[in-house]
Amino acid sequence: MALMILHGGCVGLRPLSRVTPIATGVTTREFTSSLLATGRSVEQHDELCYGAPMATHVVVLGAGFGGLELVSGLSESVPDKVQITLIDKNESFMFGFSKLDVMFGRRPVSELWNPYRLIAKPGVEFRQETVTSIDAARRRVVTDAAIYDADILVVALGADYDAAATPGLAEDGYEFYSAAGAERARDALSGFGGGAVVVGVLGPFFKCPGAPNETALLLHDYLSRRGLRESSTIQLVTPLPMPIPISKRTSSAIVAILKEHGIEYWPSSRVTGLDPEHHVAHLDDGRQLPYDLFLGIPVHCAPEVVVASDLAVDGWIPVDPATFATRFPNVFAVGDVTSAPVPRAGGIAEGEAATVAKVLISQLTDGSVPPPYDGASACYVELGDDLVGRIDVDFLSYDTPVAKFTAPTSALTEEKQEWGSKRAARWFGHESSAAL
Ligand SMILES: Cc1cc2nc3c(=O)[nH]c(=O)nc-3n(C[C@H](O)[C@H](O)[C@H](O)COP(=O)(O)OP(=O)(O)OC[C@H]3O[C@@H](n4cnc5c(N)ncnc54)[C@H](O)[C@@H]3O)c2cc1C
Repeated sequence: MALMILHGGCVGLRPLSRVTPIATGVTTREFTSSLLATGRSVEQHDELCYGAPMATHVVVLGAGFGGLELVSGLSESVPDKVQITLIDKNESFMFGFSKLDVMFGRRPVSELWNPYRLIAKPGVEFRQETVTSIDAARRRVVTDAAIYDADILVVALGADYDAAATPGLAEDGYEFYSAAGAERARDALSGFGGGAVVVGVLGPFFKCPGAPNETALLLHDYLSRRGLRESSTIQLVTPLPMPIPISKRTSSAIVAILKEHGIEYWPSSRVTGLDPEHHVAHLDDGRQLPYDLFLGIPVHCAPEVVVASDLAVDGWIPVDPATFATRFPNVFAVGDVTSAPVPRAGGIAEGEAATVAKVLISQLTDGSVPPPYDGASACYVELGDDLVGRIDVDFLSYDTPVAKFTAPTSALTEEKQEWGSKRAARWFGHESSAAL
């Protein structure tokens, strides 16, 4: 495919495919950088230079929780000041928690995808392309189809999985954190006739701290429905010392629920590899755990294109947790791809993106300083028996992070559904059945 070079900067609201570079000798990017650095509005400068307001080219990499919330916020507030290019390699978005619906056969996969073609927001253009290189110093992005020079670059590429980091996982276990993996796990479960199931968390950090507990409890329900619970054991093995390490009280409540459902909880235990021949998991302290079915949350890593870029430090993108600015001017990063001191979760990525939207809107309008990100979010956890609990976390407002647990009820089950539907409606412009 031929490469197109798309220049950012004072591009007005013309379609990007017809964008041409300005001919002043100063690149539009340098121009916009100096504006943002001085707090002066782009509109003032555009009027000085060209006599008409021009749009700032914002390139957003990744259309997940972070990218979708960011483009929604900018398009809603400053549609005439931005020309946004939103890039994702996929054609549709699936909520993380929908993967549990896939795995346990609760919803057909076809109902759970939100197609990006539904996005119809002023100033936003979606492109289905794979990002192949990021040069943050130059704010230049190369994809398999084009080259983009951004005025403002936001990286929201999420976290990938490194199945190879756990020998034997690919051969004898099932990761269920990707959509394809959840489908494979669903098929394995449907052919499962009872026995020892191990749910193993394979890395020190992972998306959605509540998810391993949800998985074990939904597995309990699934096996009960199929009449296989009595002939099965469920062991949840995790390197974390407790389910929600920032709160002993919340963790004790969750461990009690696991116990009530006959689930063995093995904290501070890390599976280092599987022995496919003998169906045994090896733990880092030398213990061995036999299994008939191994469901694994794989080791997480940043996408390769990020690791290879000038943005990565120790594999992830460091950011200022107040604004999500990186060390490069006018380059931001949000969500699972950063090393910010908050968990990797959709609600968190969304809050970070809303913060960046506020920062950019201020810079593009009155130059005011928005409040720093507070790290607060509500996390819904499925705790079995079709009931949902809620953990309200706040990571950055106080000296230490806090979490409050609300016990599972059917009202919270509805609240979670509404939470998903609202986001689907905001990001895709429809009351999506795909939300939950
Ligand atoms: C089983 C499970 C349950 C979960 N439950 C919850 C929950 O209940 N609540 C909650 O808040 N969070 C939950 N999460 C976590 C949540 O899904 C993630 O934390 C969230 O999606 C992170 O948002 P993000 O924008 O950082 O990344 P993502 O949403 O992962 O988006 C990243 C995007 O970047 C794209 N991308 C990556 N590489 C490239 C490339 N090279 N080129 C182009 N595009 C690329 C991907 O296709 C993807 O669309 C769950 C996750 C899982 C797996």
